[in-house]
Amino acid sequence: MMYSEKLMDYFKNPKFAREIKNPSAVAEEGNIKCGDIFKIFLKIKNNKIKDISYLTYGCIAAIAASESFCRIVKGKTIEEAKKVSYEDIKNDLGDVPAIKLHCTHMVIKTFKKAIENYENKN
Ligand SMILES: [Zn+2]
Repeated sequence: MMYSEKLMDYFKNPKFAREIKNPSAVAEEGNIKCGDIFKIFLKIKNNKIKDISYLTYGCIAAIAASESFCRIVKGKTIEEAKKVSYEDIKNDLGDVPAIKLHCTHMVIKTFKKAIENYENKN
């Protein structure tokens, strides 16, 4: 499979692959197609994504997409972050092979679940 250089760089040099202590919200989702497991941690302050991180166990595309998403949404407001689509991730990564697009969808699904958990709590 052909991955873009940027995608491989995110995979090899992740900055957001870590746990956040005392997170504002957490969510986990599984992806049956690849066997990927996505976990997203959020630190929210004043309605902003102050910090975000992930622990994703899965294919190269799943990890690179998680990394890309975190880089895109960090510092954004919740409303702005909710508007980030899989196409934004795809554009950021240069390209994602068609059969791996569901991995980018899963990142967003996991993020939205985390936001839902946060909103239900507050
Ligand atoms: Zn995958």
